[in-house]
Amino acid sequence: MKLIIHGGFFSESRTNQEVKHAKQEALNEIVQLGHKYLQSHNAIETVVYTACLLEDCDLFNAGTGSQIQSDGKIRMSASLMDGKTMQFSGVINIENVKNPIRIAEKLLPMEDKVLSGKGASEFALHNGYGYYNPETPQRRHEYEKRLSDSIRLGTIGCVALDFYGNLAAATSTGGKGFEMPGRVSDSATAAGNYVNEFAGVSCTGVGEDIVSGAVAPKIVTRVTDGMSLQLATVKTLNELKPFNGFAGVIGISVNGDIYHADTHPYMVWASHDGQVEVFN
Ligand code: ASP
Repeated sequence: MKLIIHGGFFSESRTNQEVKHAKQEALNEIVQLGHKYLQSHNAIETVVYTACLLEDCDLFNAGTGSQIQSDGKIRMSASLMDGKTMQFSGVINIENVKNPIRIAEKLLPMEDKVLSGKGASEFALHNGYGYYNPETPQRRHEYEKRLSDSIRLGTIGCVALDFYGNLAAATSTGGKGFEMPGRVSDSATAAGNYVNEFAGVSCTGVGEDIVSGAVAPKIVTRVTDGMSLQLATVKTLNELKPFNGFAGVIGISVNGDIYHADTHPYMVWASHDGQVEVFN
């Protein structure tokens, strides 16, 4: 049973040791809670549970603490994929919910599996997910200051391999920050979150680059065709170089390999395969 999580990139505060330690501690605690949960739950249940913990932690740009778009509103995206059933569900630009990944979970068994904008927000309200404002004073401060460091990524993601050998992946984001209303993130597309019976991958970084590089499905397909997870990840990220693509990846393959890599310094992550490892 294995679990790997990410908390996006550590660029908003690269020089801030206090924030770095806070993120290390949060990821350490969450990966342990997630791995404990995995002892008695399957992969899909575990990635939803773990993604919720990450969404609830305001250090990360998903759920509470999501970044604010150029018009002053928060719109979040999240997706979920089950490697056993090959079902994918998600919400794109949903507003005023606490845990976007829970709405993706609700949609997974339904006929219409990916909802966007108003439709997604209304679906959540009608299904009993109460109104919630995910804004934090820190994000409002960043928005008002329009910080000059334009890379402020801190999406969350999670991949789990359960006792039965099934894989699942979940990814959730508040987006790039200051984007145009209507912009679609990779996080609720197959490009950013993909899994089958051989491997599962969750991405973070610049959504446009991740979509152009078809990052998650490329890695998963390469592993399916016999390549190791490590080689498949390195090869796929190398293919982003010609356009200076910005991406970070976590993955697990069915044979138990766990791997993470990024194109730029540096993605924050933690893994648990019996032993805990946290980014340094
Ligand atoms: N991939 C996300 C997006 O482009 C941002 C991130 O990963 O932090 O919306």
